[in-house]
Amino acid sequence: MSFDLIGTIIDRSNNYIDGQWRPAAHRFDVVDPATGAALSSVPDSGKADAQAALDAAAAALPAWRALPAKVRAQHLKRWHALVIAHLDELAQLISREQGKVTAEARAEVIYGAAYIEWFAEEAVRSYGDIIPGPAVGKKMMVVKEAVGVVAAITPWNFPIAMIARKLAPALAAGCTVVAKPAEDTPLSALALARLAHEAGIPAGVLNVVTASRAQAAQVVDVWLDDARVRKISFTGSTDVGKHLARQSAATLKRLSLELGGNAPFMVFEDADLDAAVDGLMAAKFRNGGQTCVSPNRIYVHAAVYERFSELLVRRVSALKVGPASDPAAQVGPMINARAVDKITRHIADACARGAKVLTGGKPLHVEGSGGTTFFAPTVLAEADHTMLLAHEETFGPVAALFRFENEEQAMRLANETPFGLAAYFYTRDLARIWRISERFESGMVGINEGAISSEAAPFGGIKDSGYGREGSRYGLDDYMQTKYLCMGGL
Ligand code: NAD
Repeated sequence: MSFDLIGTIIDRSNNYIDGQWRPAAHRFDVVDPATGAALSSVPDSGKADAQAALDAAAAALPAWRALPAKVRAQHLKRWHALVIAHLDELAQLISREQGKVTAEARAEVIYGAAYIEWFAEEAVRSYGDIIPGPAVGKKMMVVKEAVGVVAAITPWNFPIAMIARKLAPALAAGCTVVAKPAEDTPLSALALARLAHEAGIPAGVLNVVTASRAQAAQVVDVWLDDARVRKISFTGSTDVGKHLARQSAATLKRLSLELGGNAPFMVFEDADLDAAVDGLMAAKFRNGGQTCVSPNRIYVHAAVYERFSELLVRRVSALKVGPASDPAAQVGPMINARAVDKITRHIADACARGAKVLTGGKPLHVEGSGGTTFFAPTVLAEADHTMLLAHEETFGPVAALFRFENEEQAMRLANETPFGLAAYFYTRDLARIWRISERFESGMVGINEGAISSEAAPFGGIKDSGYGREGSRYGLDDYMQTKYLCMGGL
């Protein structure tokens, strides 16, 4: 099927409610961070729009839930095919509203689409159990059912992947969805909805409502307070996640919370240093460091500290910063001025407490771009736990190196954080691999590996990084409830 996806989304974006494109009373601008110019405008929705979306999702639920899983899977497969068919356009849309460079935007579309395909395949395997009865004449069974209407609230850093990771398992399980994408990047979510529509996903099954930051709570509060929403699936900051958990307590909703992180990355004295640098470059500088699994604290054994920092600085100082329109660019702009302020504050605080800038360290002016949020990829040496960046998530291209003397000290420091999303380490010692993997307080561990995300694996955290898993068979479970059937008189 051929149509101008980008043109339609950029020129005439409205909310997608009950299978129709509906305007709201107000609109707000979506800004291209690489140019600083308005790219489009989308509805600045309010309570009435949120209510209309929820009414549509609730009305669509009985029929969608009743479909055989195989039929829902066929819808998802058609949707997946359309996403792949529009790969270049979707990648362009991501780059324009979020800023990431073209190769990364393409990788994001492929990664997001993989969740749609995975859950189409997983939908037909939502098996229950037969339990041996405790008495003659009694049979016990367990079946899995869709939890109901799901509210999905997503961040800006992966505008396609973050929402695809929620919509795909929800729809596969038989749930219907109301979604609110981040205010910085609503267009990609609307484009996904357009493709879902073209794929024949019935009206009301998926609804997307956009809102500015100021209006976000207005929209989401309608869903939090309504007992028809049975689950909140949220990816974003820990503060907002805790607020959603508190406010949805009155109607006892299920929650999946994919929250912030502050990942440790350890390099032991026996590590393959080239591989460790490769792993760190992938984990740290992808998306300009704006990923929740990005290492914030890089602990390097004193015996290899100097060599590792030399290798790293060589690679980081060679990174080319620029807009996605520059084919040579490897790191795009930060999402907005707030992000640049936080990175600058973390670097200033670290330097005031004794850190040294080995490369980068400041915002960058990229000639001819118009954007004001480019930041130089940075390496800081001599970081320690008195610094803000040891405790808060920097969410930018800053690799802070901490020196350690022994495994015990490194493990104590690594777990000295309220967060528990990802952790990474490099070593060639097999016994240490098992020992350390067990001791990390995190939902995910990369062992001699910097790229851990996959649709086939359970992505998620513990502690202040939240709970719930996205991807793998565990990801489908999060959208299903367990029903026990007990049959007597047999
Ligand atoms: P954010 O919490 O500010 O916003 C996330 C979403 O919540 C947006 O859609 C926003 O509009 C909405 N929101 C904000 N305030 C709200 C309120 N009071 N009520 C209802 N909704 C509200 O986060 P962000 O800045 O968009 O994203 C960055 C954060 O997301 C980082 O902390 C990052 O680590 C985290 N993140 C986590 C994962 C993960 O899987 N664990 C993945 C990506 C990003």
